[in-house]
Amino acid sequence: MDDCLFCRIVRKELPADILYEDDKVLAFKDINPVAPHHLLIIPKEHIPSINEATPEHEETLGRMFTVAAKITRELGIDQQGYRAVVNTGKAAGQVVFHMHMHVVGGRKLTWPPG
Ligand code: 5GP
Ligand code: ZN
Repeated sequence: MDDCLFCRIVRKELPADILYEDDKVLAFKDINPVAPHHLLIIPKEHIPSINEATPEHEETLGRMFTVAAKITRELGIDQQGYRAVVNTGKAAGQVVFHMHMHVVGGRKLTWPPG
């Protein structure tokens, strides 16, 4: 996807504060953090949202969770707790249509979300 913001970050055409990268996923700091720790874990492949997920994506989607476990452990927030969320579609507030898992932590989080 030529003009997709997150595809451009994957291709290193745009800068990002990258925390982790492998062949399938990329993790970087959110540019507008809502908590002391706020990162985004994305598939390198352009998958617009959960709605477009297929069985072929299962390894990549599973990797996003194991990377979340690794990074939160390294950040030292795994035991206190954090939130991993994938906004899907307009009503959920998704504005970047390249799937991304928000990982938010470092403060007390309330539930339900707004
Ligand atoms: P959404 O609302 O689609 O779930 O979340 C999109 C997220 O991407 C927002 O939290 C926003 O701050 C973040 N974001 C938007 N543009 C950029 C960017 O250019 N770089 C980074 N690192 N994050 C971005
Ligand atoms: Zn994309």
